[in-house]
Amino acid sequence: MEQNKDINQLDIPLAKRIHLDNSNSILLKKLLIFSPVLILLFSIFGLRLIRSTEIVSLRNFNFQAQINHGHRILGHLPYAEIPKEKLVLVEPNIEVHRDMLDSLLRMREEAKKDGIYLVFLSGYRSINLQNEIFYTLKSVRNQEAAERARVSAPPGYSEHSTGFAIDIGDATQRGTDFEVEFENTDAFKWLTKNAAKFHFKLSFNKDNKYIDYEPWHWRYEGSIEALKVFESSNRKL
Ligand SMILES: [Zn+2]
Repeated sequence: MEQNKDINQLDIPLAKRIHLDNSNSILLKKLLIFSPVLILLFSIFGLRLIRSTEIVSLRNFNFQAQINHGHRILGHLPYAEIPKEKLVLVEPNIEVHRDMLDSLLRMREEAKKDGIYLVFLSGYRSINLQNEIFYTLKSVRNQEAAERARVSAPPGYSEHSTGFAIDIGDATQRGTDFEVEFENTDAFKWLTKNAAKFHFKLSFNKDNKYIDYEPWHWRYEGSIEALKVFESSNRKL
């Protein structure tokens, strides 16, 4: 009994409860009367919100698509030309980015220990030289730009202008220089097995949808600068 009394004392007085109940029911009635209007308003607002969200995401998607496709030309990504002071001579006519010199020479030495003789065919190429290669060879071979681009980068779009790319041949099979047949040489087999140890990677493998397979063309990814240069290329789109 003592407990019940306490509860009653704490409880809200009856009159107040009736008053609250009344105001609640009036509110409920008002809500019922205006509910179709409210539902309509919420629907309109909701639909507008969904539409504007869709438009924003569509805009973002289009923007992203433009970035991803906009910066390629005939399948090639743009590359800036390396400043001259970062170039070092490997041997006559072969210059590369100073970051990769040690790795490149160590790789050739290690290969030699295994009886494999790597020969460096082409390193850094200036945008001017790439210009000549792309436009002169294209006309000599009577190829259109798109065909030519499958085997040679347009000027300003070659990995060779970064100084981080090197074309490699087999000193014992020079007939395979710059040819797909290079993949059958011992040099290529050795590179496939060992190049990653020296931070070299094949740039254009058989799965590349834009550019023909180039088993002779390797790029260096063993420094932060090199990784930055090839970040777009390595990103899976
Ligand atoms: Zn190359």
